[in-house]
Formats: sequence, structure tokens, C-alpha cells
Amino acid sequence: MSSVKKQLIVFDFDWSMADQDTDRWIFEVLAPDLRRKMKTLKDEVQWTDLVAQSLREANKRGVKREEIQNALRIMPFHPAMARGVDKLKTQDDRTTFLCLSNSNSVFISTILEDKMLTHIFSEIITNPADWEGELLKLRRRIDPAGPQHSCEVGCSPNMCKGEELEAFLSRNGQEYDRIVYVGDGSNDFCPILRMREQDLVLCRSHRGLSSRIAKEGAAKGLKPKIQYWAGAWEVEEIFATL
Ligand SMILES: [Mg+2]
Ligand SMILES: [Zn+2]
Repeated sequence: MSSVKKQLIVFDFDWSMADQDTDRWIFEVLAPDLRRKMKTLKDEVQWTDLVAQSLREANKRGVKREEIQNALRIMPFHPAMARGVDKLKTQDDRTTFLCLSNSNSVFISTILEDKMLTHIFSEIITNPADWEGELLKLRRRIDPAGPQHSCEVGCSPNMCKGEELEAFLSRNGQEYDRIVYVGDGSNDFCPILRMREQDLVLCRSHRGLSSRIAKEGAAKGLKPKIQYWAGAWEVEEIFATL
């Protein structure tokens, strides 16, 4: 596809770039009872708030910053994914990478630093987090006290990835010949509804996004081409053809 002069690769993070879910993983490693509690409460408490609350509980019982950082560094991350994105980013200047994630800024940057991938993303749009001593303070991307997003596709109150993608495109004023979206979750459905026929979705098989595409894609007029993948080595293979 040599006609593509500028392309944007949009990456979800959990189960897309990384081979696990950051929010769940750190509690599975450091406090499995809190992981169980999150599973019990997830339909009652908004997810970002629930992770923030669980981080406070972990901090109260003495879980250290270093332990959280180490848990993130040992989280599964496929070497083929690291190779694939690095090659596409560094081989020429056609490709811009954007991260759209429901995780948080500290989890993502800790992992990217460990994998020597901090040069990949032009922008990381996610929930903001900061260390306050040993406590990781996490907030929603959209402050619950301020104006809320107007999405009707079913995005969580903390962030609408579709609106974030559109805002990124208009603030960059850049025309992309092709947008490629790599995602797995049901909240990746909203942004792909806003993509065009010449765009491409790399959808991880057997997860929330693939079921939403199957159930709602045709009725909602989904336009981009969909290509399914299961392992990161397949994304590396596809990236080599872009
Ligand atoms: Mg995901
Ligand atoms: Zn949305």
C-alpha cells in the first residue's frame, strides 16, 4: 500500500499492546483479596473509581510503590509486539502512534519505560495518575464534577474513546490516509464507528470488541475493514505489510 503517505496507528493498551490487563494484574500479584473485591463491586462502582479505591486500600496495608512498579514490569508483554511497533515507528516517518487507554498514565509509562518503548507514542490519552509517596493517586480522565461526555454508544463515564479520537484528529489538523486501530475491548467499539472505509481495525479475537462488531457492527454502519488476530506475533506480521 505505497499510496499511504501518512498513517495513524491507534492503540488500546490492556490486552492490545500489552498481553494482560494492568488494573487487574497488579492486584492479582499484590493483593488477590482486593482483586476479588473488585470483581464483586464492578457493577456497583465505576471502574476507575474502583481501581483508585483499591489502590488506597493496598497503600493502607503497606503495599509499596516499588512493588507496584515491579508487578507492572513482570506483566506479560509479547516481544513480537515490542518488535513490531518499534520497527514501524523507526523505519520511516509515515506513522504516528496514539494510545487510547482506560488504564492510567503511571501504569502505561512504567511498562513502556521497562520495554524501552517510550519513543513510540506521540500522545497517551488515559486516566491521570501520580505518585504521592507510596500511594498511586488515580483520577478519571473526565472529572465527575465537571461536564460529562455525550456518547451514546455505551462508553464508561470516565472516558469516551470515540470523542477522544475525534478531538485528537481535529487538534492535530493532520490528514491521515489511513487510520489503523488495534483493540480488544467493548469500549473500543465507539472509536471504530467513527472510522472510514480506507481505515483498518486490528481486532483481537474472542473478546468484547469482536462480539460488539458481530452484534452491532452492521446495524451501526461500521465502515473500516476488520482483521482479526489472536497473538501479538500476528500484529507484527500485519504491521510489516502496512
Ligand atoms: Mg483493552
Ligand atoms: Zn463513546
